[in-house]
Amino acid sequence: MKFMVDKKDRDSSARTGKLALKHGTVKTPVFMPVGTNATVKAMRNDDLEALGINMILSNTYHLYLRPGIDVIKKAGGLHSFMSWKHNILTDSGGFQVFSLTKFRKIESDGVLFRSHIDGSMHKLTPEKVVDIQNILGSDVMMVLDVCTGYDTEKREAEEALEITSTWARRSKLHWDSINKEKGSLWGIVQGNFYEELRKRSAEELISMDFPGYAIGGLSVGEPFQVFTHFLRYTAELLPVEKPRYVMGIGTPEYILEAVESGIDLFDCVFPTRTARNAMAFTYSGTVSLKRESNKYSTKPIDSTCNCTTCRNYSRSYLRHLFNTREILASILTTHHNLYFIMKLVEDIRNSIEEGRFINFKREFLSNYRKENAKDDRNIP
Ligand SMILES: [Zn+2]
Repeated sequence: MKFMVDKKDRDSSARTGKLALKHGTVKTPVFMPVGTNATVKAMRNDDLEALGINMILSNTYHLYLRPGIDVIKKAGGLHSFMSWKHNILTDSGGFQVFSLTKFRKIESDGVLFRSHIDGSMHKLTPEKVVDIQNILGSDVMMVLDVCTGYDTEKREAEEALEITSTWARRSKLHWDSINKEKGSLWGIVQGNFYEELRKRSAEELISMDFPGYAIGGLSVGEPFQVFTHFLRYTAELLPVEKPRYVMGIGTPEYILEAVESGIDLFDCVFPTRTARNAMAFTYSGTVSLKRESNKYSTKPIDSTCNCTTCRNYSRSYLRHLFNTREILASILTTHHNLYFIMKLVEDIRNSIEEGRFINFKREFLSNYRKENAKDDRNIP
């Protein structure tokens, strides 16, 4: 793995760069669509390629439970299993263990949990999570961490941070002992919403010298201003020469904020999940395609969007597809939402290259917020 910063913005921490990975070079900042079950829902791989997507995220927790790591190992890894030629980042499963399972118990060597699918008991250790991602053949892998929610007491957040640091150290040792060539293992900064703990987490991880750093535990229900503050605070603690990744960011407001704070990679289910619920991005805000006002609309989702959905289909038709629960509704709207986000990130990269990022951000948001408040009420 190699990371190179190309251009730094004068007025903020925004930057462009290149992340060279096993399956090709990725231009940063980059948005990674989420392929939870080894598929970005409603999108074929060649549709993703046509949108210029060359890095996706997949979830270790879900793949470990279904189809099972033995199945993917037999297929020769996740790339060949899902027939994806480009890069894959996998998370550690920590977030899902802490958010999806009803029963979990942190033990000194790992986390015991009950599957949210069939109730079976499993145990993930830092070493096992590295081994699983190694079998998956991920280009970027994450260490197992302990996630805490908003409104967590400081003592509990501190305990979670201590375990996260211990597990990160063990993950790194294990990774160094098996294979350095296959992919790269990144650390995750935790510390909840306490500056002192964020700082401590970052310092401990930096001393372990990971090739890249993720900022975890944000976008977990906190107000936007709190998110912004902790994102900036944490990003500034991380080494400038290494890639920074923030997990769970997928709306224009959050993406622009992350980029301004010097973040290089982000992922989120938001653009694809909401598309399946009839919510579409437009340059003047989000709209619900199910709205009555779209019943006779011959206009596309966004008349300035150049995606194949907007070039060929009307809001009226899309509304009808959603109302009749047709599969095509999800396919067409997902395509539009991913096109919109990929175009936004491309525009962001260009604006940084041309030294006008802050202006771009201001202009984009002033249009985007125009209709948003009005349309938000109609989102199902
Ligand atoms: Zn479109």
